[in-house]
Amino acid sequence: MPDTPALQADTVTKRYGHVIALRGVSLRVAAGECLALVGESGSGKTTLLRAFNRMVEPEAGRVLVNGRDVAGEDPVALRRSIGYVQQEGGLLPHWSVRRNAALVPWLRRDDDALVRADHVLVLVGLDPATFADRRPRQLSGGQRQRVAIARALADRPSILLMDEPFGALDAITRAELHESFEALRAEIPTTTLLVTHDLREAARLADRIAVMRAGGIEQVAAPAELVEAPSSAYVAMLLHRAGLR
Ligand code: ADP
Ligand code: MG
Repeated sequence: MPDTPALQADTVTKRYGHVIALRGVSLRVAAGECLALVGESGSGKTTLLRAFNRMVEPEAGRVLVNGRDVAGEDPVALRRSIGYVQQEGGLLPHWSVRRNAALVPWLRRDDDALVRADHVLVLVGLDPATFADRRPRQLSGGQRQRVAIARALADRPSILLMDEPFGALDAITRAELHESFEALRAEIPTTTLLVTHDLREAARLADRIAVMRAGGIEQVAAPAELVEAPSSAYVAMLLHRAGLR
């Protein structure tokens, strides 16, 4: 079924006490597409991302992955089948780079976990001969993010959730990682949901951009269309602030 979206949210609502983090959000991401979730801090980007691997359980609405309602899926199996790069990377500090990268295949007791790790380390531009035995603190910020991305890709998931993966990096390192990311996507055609607060980054990397505001989606459009025809003064303001309009 080529028309089944890889990721789909139908009127998803999530509350934390009095805070409404998601207010009836609907979104579809096609297989192979890269969709960027953009919005100010607190707009609900992380909450929406995490609804797809059941790290967030919505109060209302449905979340589907490859056409299947995640509410009926085993959360652990679901999480292992979807690559996830957490905000702040989330590497295990006492584990080597190789073991960090091997985490997901290792969890399912794959004898080839370390081989898979080395393979994805090469893909993200880290030579295992140099980096595999280091600890995360022996790496630069950009190198750590590369390991986090390698870990998410080690089991070749068809879906990748990335939460501000290039967030806390200097401009040059970011540009390098953007290039690596584009090369990776050309090699492994993974459906990607990419959270960023940077509209320029979204416009460069994503096929479509969803602008979030206060728990809702303000507009979803291809980057050129968003720039040409922002649907609200708010979207126009964000574009202007990012120097895109
Ligand atoms: P973003 O990723 O866009 O910065 P989040 O999805 O993290 O936004 O948060 C959306 C809203 O939900 C914010 O108001 C945030 O404070 C609140 N929130 C997120 N996670 C929690 C939590 N675990 N407990 C309470 N409030 C939360
Ligand atoms: Mg966030």
